[in-house]
Amino acid sequence: TPLTATQQTQTTCPYCGVGCGVDISQQNGQLLPVAGDSRHPSNFGRLCVKGSALHETISHNGRLMYPLMNGQRSSWSQAINLIADKIQQVIHTHGPDAVAFYGSGQLLTEDYYVANKLMKGFIGSANMDTNSRLCMASAVASYKRAFGSDTVPGCYEDLEQADLLVLTGSNAAWAHPVLYQRMVAAKKANPDMKVVVIDPRRTATCDLADLHLAIRPGSDAFLFTALLAYLGETNNLDHHFIALHTEGFGSALETARQQCRSLKEVAEQLDIEASDLAQFFHWFADTPRTVTFYSQGINQSATGTDKGNAIINVHLATGRIGKPGATPFSITGQPNAMGGREVGGLANQLAAHMDFSAAERDRVRRFWQASNLAERPGLKAVDLFQAVKRGEIKFLWIMSTNPLVSMPDADDVKEALKHCELVVVSDCMADTDTAAAAHVLLPAASWGEKNGTVTNSERRISRQRGFLPPPGEAMPDWWIVTQVAHALGHADAFNYSHPADIFDEHARLSAFENNGSRDFDLSGLSGMSRAQYDAMAPVQWPVNAQYPQGRQRFFDDRRFYTDNGKARFIAVAPELPLPRTGGDLIMNTGRVRDHWHTMTRTGKAPRLAQHISEPYADIHPQDAALRGIEDGSLVRIFNPRGSLLLRAHISDNQRTGEIFVPMHWTSRYASAARMGTLTDNSVDAISGQPELKYSAVNAEPF
Ligand code: SF4
Repeated sequence: TPLTATQQTQTTCPYCGVGCGVDISQQNGQLLPVAGDSRHPSNFGRLCVKGSALHETISHNGRLMYPLMNGQRSSWSQAINLIADKIQQVIHTHGPDAVAFYGSGQLLTEDYYVANKLMKGFIGSANMDTNSRLCMASAVASYKRAFGSDTVPGCYEDLEQADLLVLTGSNAAWAHPVLYQRMVAAKKANPDMKVVVIDPRRTATCDLADLHLAIRPGSDAFLFTALLAYLGETNNLDHHFIALHTEGFGSALETARQQCRSLKEVAEQLDIEASDLAQFFHWFADTPRTVTFYSQGINQSATGTDKGNAIINVHLATGRIGKPGATPFSITGQPNAMGGREVGGLANQLAAHMDFSAAERDRVRRFWQASNLAERPGLKAVDLFQAVKRGEIKFLWIMSTNPLVSMPDADDVKEALKHCELVVVSDCMADTDTAAAAHVLLPAASWGEKNGTVTNSERRISRQRGFLPPPGEAMPDWWIVTQVAHALGHADAFNYSHPADIFDEHARLSAFENNGSRDFDLSGLSGMSRAQYDAMAPVQWPVNAQYPQGRQRFFDDRRFYTDNGKARFIAVAPELPLPRTGGDLIMNTGRVRDHWHTMTRTGKAPRLAQHISEPYADIHPQDAALRGIEDGSLVRIFNPRGSLLLRAHISDNQRTGEIFVPMHWTSRYASAARMGTLTDNSVDAISGQPELKYSAVNAEPF
């Protein structure tokens, strides 16, 4: 066969919040191995193992091809009509709050936008939450407390411009590998750069560390609050910045002083050497270009919001924000965790970085011409599934996520779904744990089959572009939601024929009566033609008259989005996690390098199973010896909520009294490895983010 011209497509990797650009090439209808997009400013051609195996994870094996109702194949119109009828009946009988949607950071922004609009603008409830609640809700809450807005201040380039890189609650080498590659290259180029890793475990990221602080789990807020006290004590403060651009410094410092009286006491609290703590404080105090990079080890905590603010406090105290190489920097877990926040995909948000104040409700109502706008915030994920269990939610639609694996106390969530009158799951895969609990299954188009945008951890909006036809009757999520909206009688408000139409409306809403009062502004991207949308280059928001090419850093102008324009210190009185019952070991959870979340796609690539092929538990030699557990043997990890069967990895990378279990394995790959069945469902009181890093368990030989 003569070779045809190579077809090229630029798209974005869906496997983590770094958001790398990917080059897709096809020849004679065959997909060639993917490559990194050298022009994409977030990865400059780099890919990690997961990204470079993308073409191996898109087979149709296991795909959901057709709508199913109670296990029987149906047409789209039958399924859509059933869903719309049920929503109407539930609203009529029980009110709109008996309807709920649960979305995902795997949805594209356009998918998210229409789902959020339907629920909050037309069904009349804000019971739309998302698995981003498990990912970034605490970072959002701490940004809003400090800045008055959910604004990520920095950019990836800051990682290369820093002289001190502090990674806390992050195993970037495995969870955000391309950013880690950028850090490695930066340290090589700047041998004076210091890297401090704060993590109870010795992880692969520690290979880059000049100092590893293996702190007691959950004690991060003590460390950063003590650092604030130290900066005050040693007068390493930016007095000018504090006086002109912040408020609340005095009470934050006083609280820090009361909580952290001496370095020795704090080191005991953290369970590390006082000399190591002093070294870190000294480096921090002396290094103007400091980035504090944090992820789920901070966020997935019952005090995650305070932890985030404790980090932001030390950056405000030293004026290290809005400058090259100087910023607090939360890193999202999912490819579009940020896009969900932008459209209002969390239950306590309304839309486009607007909440439920009277003025913002009025603004959104007028823009959407909403027939039934939600009046108040809805239920956050853990509360939402508890309401399902109590029978208060009669209709639940789960989109692109697998909460029967990922939610805390996952078996309780499984039980809860039995109390729903109708559970709808839209997914690309047929046999997830959650799909098994659905009455109606809707086949969703997957990565490579649909068009839209995602926003990565540095606020960069990139296009995902389709280059393959969806299999069977699979359709994009935005189309599915739009069809239901039409069947509910809202055709005028959901008159979209392409994701470009939705993006345009999203951009216009972000700019509507904005006048610079909100950080999120895409006015410069509204009014694009279909061709311009198709060709859209990656860009960091905002994109408006002032920043037509996007904005690299926020707060370089010292203007925050609070009422008085000043950043707020939050007085943090740090708390250690409460003692847990149910076992004498503390279970920590997280990602492995080569799998994505519940493995529905990465589980398909043999290459990605080579790194770690089966679920395991890392356990310290002393804990293993105490229990008669041998390296490589099977071990049962259990508590009153459930039981897992895992391979024991005996390793002194663990602290004693703690074990680590990866988050990925599901019933499809291992019948007893769903770590969510053991995790604690306590949540952060402000953000509602669950504690997924601190559950009490037991371990015994199997
Ligand atoms: Fe994909 Fe993340 Fe790897 Fe980049 S770092 S290639 S976005 S998984």
